[in-house]
Amino acid sequence: MEELEALLKKMPERRVLLQLPDGLKHKVEEFVELFRKYNKEVIVDVDPSYGACDVRINEMRAVGAEAIVHVGHAPMFDLPNVYYVEWRRPADVEKVRRALEELSSKGRVCLATAVNFRWMLEELEGMENVVVGGGSWRIPLRGVVLGCDTTACNVDADLNAFVGDGHFHPLAIEINTGRPTYRISPDGKVERVSYERFLRRRLALVGSVDGKRVGIIVSSKIGQNRNPLAQELAREARKRGYEVNLYVSDYMDPLYLLGLPDDFFVYTGCPRVPLDDWERYEKPLLTPEEFLYKLGLLKKYSIGWITALRRSGSGASRPG
Ligand code: SF4
Repeated sequence: MEELEALLKKMPERRVLLQLPDGLKHKVEEFVELFRKYNKEVIVDVDPSYGACDVRINEMRAVGAEAIVHVGHAPMFDLPNVYYVEWRRPADVEKVRRALEELSSKGRVCLATAVNFRWMLEELEGMENVVVGGGSWRIPLRGVVLGCDTTACNVDADLNAFVGDGHFHPLAIEINTGRPTYRISPDGKVERVSYERFLRRRLALVGSVDGKRVGIIVSSKIGQNRNPLAQELAREARKRGYEVNLYVSDYMDPLYLLGLPDDFFVYTGCPRVPLDDWERYEKPLLTPEEFLYKLGLLKKYSIGWITALRRSGSGASRPG
């Protein structure tokens, strides 16, 4: 809470919208109390807060707030009156160091983590045979990856070590780099991850899509909006004889697609929606990269923003 307290001491705005990730909502009273201590009127946004990509400007306006405090993620955009507060999660750095030492005996290790554990990089960077890559405009922090952006792993290495929990970050890292990937848990346990089965299933799904009616869905979230890419996909699909419908949505839910006439969908927002939740959807839901791959416009299967950005120059636009 220290970083938040330091912010509250100096921020001039009084009426504030607070965005918390789901994992911190059980502490909401503690947060509200702290805001009140600094004479702030706080309104809590109960929508899911998935990432730094999801800043709730409309909700701020709807409740007449003067600012947003967005907790748990690192800044993706420099927006007026939006304050990001990172949330440091505990880890046993000595156990993680030992795990890394062991891995580095196999070859040069690319070390990456999620934003909540990035404090450890200061302690671990500089270890022999361990390399930390730079960030991108989406996540301009060394060694930190997002599920949609593994730029920090674009380094010369033999294997990857992701420090953190969850499966999506190591999945994206392994698939995008093609290197053996290990997850080191915050308490130092090492697990070799392997997503071959996942990849086989996705490729089978991409291959099985044979209808010619495609619905391309644009996300209206500020950091997930890839409208130029959606337009490009629509053009390329039409050239190849597809009938295209364009849709826009803030949150995605399988219910929203029921009754639509398309044979399959391409979701251009967060890649976790099609890749984590695909079994909940009645019709195939592809990522833009998968659709480009299907159209023969992308040679290698990959996950996340950067692929399409490099190919077409049309990633999520920075808000003005
Ligand atoms: S688009 Fe998805 S993976 Fe990327 S930052 Fe947002 S929530 Fe995370």
